[in-house]
Amino acid sequence: MKRAAACLLIMISLAFISGCTERDRMYRESRVLMDTFCTITVVSASEEKAREAINRGFAEIERLDGLLNYFSEDSEITAVNRAAGRPVRVSRETLDIVKKAVHISEITGGAFDPTIAPVVSLWKFSKDISAPSIPSRDAVATALRHVDYRKIEINTAASEIYLTEKGMELDLGGIAKGYAADRAVEAVKAEGIKAALVAVAGDIRGFGLNPSGQGWRLGIQDPRPETVSERPWEDVFATLELRDRAISTSGDYQRFFIKDGKRYFHILDPVTGFPAETDLISVTVIAPEGYVTDSLATAVFVLGVEKGMKLLESMGIDGVLVCADKKILLTEHLRGKINILNPAYQAVNYSP
Ligand code: ADP
Ligand code: MG
Repeated sequence: MKRAAACLLIMISLAFISGCTERDRMYRESRVLMDTFCTITVVSASEEKAREAINRGFAEIERLDGLLNYFSEDSEITAVNRAAGRPVRVSRETLDIVKKAVHISEITGGAFDPTIAPVVSLWKFSKDISAPSIPSRDAVATALRHVDYRKIEINTAASEIYLTEKGMELDLGGIAKGYAADRAVEAVKAEGIKAALVAVAGDIRGFGLNPSGQGWRLGIQDPRPETVSERPWEDVFATLELRDRAISTSGDYQRFFIKDGKRYFHILDPVTGFPAETDLISVTVIAPEGYVTDSLATAVFVLGVEKGMKLLESMGIDGVLVCADKKILLTEHLRGKINILNPAYQAVNYSP
């Protein structure tokens, strides 16, 4: 995939919110990084400090992309993939995120699996989706033989990752953006900033309060908008307030094609190698860390309502699950805390 030009400066805006303290203002900037649109918003009394912090945050995202990008010739993930069958020494960060990815695979019973790459490649969702193709069952079955997170070996002392079979490949596409948001927040904090919001596409982490003294108000994208918009991410069905938390949404509407009346999308079931057969169309997860929300949103989507709700509740993690009939299920702690704007969506109580 052709990588979008890094550092495309889209927007620098200065916002002043009424009721804010003496001189605190919001500074916001967007760039294209990790093949997607990233926005960092910081609250600061000093424009210079704000710009410095924003630059640090973006630098961190760019650095991680350099290590983790599946499509890049010289990333560490590409080195690990090319060397499948023997161990490869990697940086602390790459080791850290792969460990985290394996941990999420374990707690989701493999619904999230970072070794899904050989199957993902067959589907070509990252390429031109206007000429969709469905891989043959044989091709999928062959690729699936190499999909199993239990075949990843990690040697912490030697800082090595070992894909134990030739043909195995890692794809951190379901966790890297949330992880990058975590790391960018750390970078911004290290600059002495007391409130910020980092969005790597739909994987967002906030800390502190906005200049009005409130949490960050965010919208959840409408997975089935009634009209086609040029800016679909602005079409939201609900809003909520984020305080010192991360949030991610996964759904079947971000990258998909429809063939013979069936929707095919980029979240695959590691058991079948086909788009997950799920009763969900969108899953939003809210938790302290972005790598958790990013990967769990994908996993819960694959698991479906029953197993997904059970997993979230057992971990004490918040979720907004949207079913195919537009019914919304909320984990217990979230009830009453989300504002549903679109009457086509209705919150119902979940009883297992
Ligand atoms: P998005 O990238 O749109 O935010 P997700 O966070 O749900 O969506 O991640 C989907 C990406 O993760 C896919 O594009 C693919 O690269 C990878 N992926 C697909 N299915 C799985 C899965 N079951 N487990 C882990 N990664 C997956
Ligand atoms: Mg995700």
